[in-house]
Order: sequence, then structure tokens, then C-alpha cells
Amino acid sequence: MKLRVVVLPGDGIGPEVTAQAVQVLQTVAGIHGYKFDFEEHAIGGVAIRDFGSPLPRKTLDACLASDAVLLGAVGAPEYDRLPANQRPEAGLLLLRRALGGYANLRPAISYAAIEDCSPLRSEVVRGVDILFVRELLGGLYFGEPRGFATTSNGSSIASNTMVYTVDEIERVARVAFEAAQKRRGKVTSVDKANVLETSQLWRQTVTRLAEEFPDVTLNHLYVDACAMHLITNPRLFDVVLTENLFGDILTDEAAVITGSLGMLASATVGGEVGLYEPVHGSAPDIAGKEIANPCGAIASAAMMLRHSAGLEHEARDIELAIQNVLEAGYRTADIAAGGHASRTAEMGELICEAVTEIADMRYAYHAV
Ligand code: NAD
Repeated sequence: MKLRVVVLPGDGIGPEVTAQAVQVLQTVAGIHGYKFDFEEHAIGGVAIRDFGSPLPRKTLDACLASDAVLLGAVGAPEYDRLPANQRPEAGLLLLRRALGGYANLRPAISYAAIEDCSPLRSEVVRGVDILFVRELLGGLYFGEPRGFATTSNGSSIASNTMVYTVDEIERVARVAFEAAQKRRGKVTSVDKANVLETSQLWRQTVTRLAEEFPDVTLNHLYVDACAMHLITNPRLFDVVLTENLFGDILTDEAAVITGSLGMLASATVGGEVGLYEPVHGSAPDIAGKEIANPCGAIASAAMMLRHSAGLEHEARDIELAIQNVLEAGYRTADIAAGGHASRTAEMGELICEAVTEIADMRYAYHAV
């Protein structure tokens, strides 16, 4: 198995957490004899500093020629005053568009060992394991016409257009159904079909597609009801399928379940090249202190193995390793609740050791 990975550490804590994710991937490669090649490139603030652009051509070309892209985070306070299209974040938006991924996958998992870090009660979050599948290239964020105008009486108006085609809905819904087949077999499709025509088309299309997946149970929820159930009874959900805007809001809401932004992973798939990144930003307030939680970046690397390399077992080993390290009582500062905290590199090292232990146990089991 060979995999060419472009690593884009980016700004702030990005380099600190991606270094740990790469180390875990190297551990997996070493155990199984795989060849993962890593090529590092600049994006975001460091790319502006070194190359005058938040997404240099060389970075984009390397990403397009790779099998997968692993990104840290972008954003640095010194560039906050630049116009939006020249800021570090613009590089990430350009990259996402260029890679063409239309399905954003964001797991929201409550780890038993840190369930008391969630602002929700432990009995509410216990056992939660949701996979959000959010449509990423359509809807209100991309629809035309859009913009500002002036009415005949001189007043300003602004408008955006929510638009979806059947093809756009079908391709992302397919990702959700296929993911559910490998999980607990349930898709909840979120819309506002009582008000919006785009949602009516969404519901019709998803319902029709469900006939191809008789082993998956489909139910529909209005977005407002979904927002409520996510907080009151998140265990209701397995795979949640949403359009772009609803997904943006609901995934941030669900993030509170896990207790720390540093735990959250994401994958963007469907395009030529998958993009894997922790959900958090560059966290300038803790950058350089070596205290960032690398679990989100490491879990993103696990998603990379699953979606870009078909290495499901190896992905699960990494996810289990994170869980085992937490259960053994190790914490970074964000989830330590004032207790002893491990540094970023120590947490990465512990997860590498746990991955090796899990692989050894599997080997021993098969050898018996
Ligand atoms: P942020 O996610 O960087 O930080 C929010 C809070 O969470 C901070 O207190 C931070 O210390 C903490 N935090 C985040 N990740 C953590 C981790 N791994 N371990 C421990 N604590 C962690 O969001 P922000 O402060 O709103 O934004 C900072 C910069 O990041 C801005 O420039 C923003 O535009 C950018 N940003 C980038 C991305 C991305 O690259 N995908 C996403 C969000 C924000």
C-alpha cells in the first residue's frame, strides 16, 4: 500500500498537531509495511509570509497530484486586517474548492473518559456517536444571484439564493447512506420542507434514493427540531445528512457534545483528492506552548486512512488508540479540568504506543 500525502501544517497550533498526526501515520506504516510519502507545503499565514499568497501555486499543484491532503489550521492575527480574499483563510477556501470535495464528514463522538468535559449532562452525552454528512459545494453559500443592490427609494438590499439540483442532492445523500451501511444503519435527513422548495426537492430526492438502500432506515427532521434533539437526546442519531447552511450550524452545535474543539476531526470527500483536517482553528492564544490537543488532527488522519486508502482496520486502530489513551487517564490541558496535563508531543507519543499495542494484540490473537 502506497499513499502520497501532502501535509499543510499552516499557522498557530497547526504545525504542532499535524506533526503528531504524521507520527501516528508513520507508526501505522511501520507496523504494516506500508509506504506513506509525506510532502510538506505552505498554506495560510506562513504562505503569505514566505510566498506572498495564502495558497501558492506550488502548494495547490502538489495537493492536486497527491492521494490525500492533511491540513492543520490557518489564520494568524497579524493578517486579520487584510481584505478577506487575501487573508490566510482565503487559501483554505480556495483549496477546498479546487479539490472539489462535496461531502464534509464530521463525527461527533462522546468519549466515556471525558464525558464530564461536555457542558451537557453526562447521562445525555454518554454513548453519542454521530456522523454528520454535510453538503459542501451548494446551497446558499454558492447560489446565484447574490449581492447588494439599492432600491428605487435609495435603501440598500442584500440577497442570497438557495439552490440545489437533484444531482447535487443525490451524490451527497449516497455518501450518507453508504456510511450508514457501515455503522448502525440509520440516516436522519435534515431539511425545512414545510417552508422551502429546495428542502422539498431535498426530501423527495433522498426518499427516492433510500429505495436503493433497503438495509438503511431513513427518517426526516426539520432543522429546528433537529437542533433541539441534538441537545436533548443526541443518542437518537447515527448519520445526519444536511445541506450546506444547516450543516454548518448543526455541526458546531454538536461539537459541544465532545467537550473540546481539540477532539474534533473532519474529512471532505467526493472530489479527486480527500482533505482531512481537525475542526479547530489555529488557536493563536495557545500556539507555541506545546499544549494543544492533537486528538482532532490524529482522528482526521484516521479518517484519511479510511476514505483515501480504504484502510478501515488501521483507521479503527487509531480511533481505539485515542480512546484507550483517554481511558488510561491522559489528558491535554483543554480536557484536564485543572488536573495533570500532558503536552502535545507526549499525547502523540502515547497514541503511537497505543496503536502499536493494539496491532500487537491483533497479531497475537490471529497467531493463536
Ligand atoms: P480556534 O478553533 O482557533 O480556537 C478557539 C478556542 O479553542 C481557543 O481558546 C483555542 O485555544 C481552543 N482550541 C482550539 N483548538 C484547540 C486544540 N487543538 N487544543 C486545545 N485548545 C484548542 O478558533 P478562533 O480562536 O475563533 O480562531 C483563531 C484563528 O483560526 C482565526 O484566524 C480563524 O480564522 C482561524 N480558523 C481557522 C480554521 C481552519 O483552519 N479550519 C477554523 C476555525 C478558525
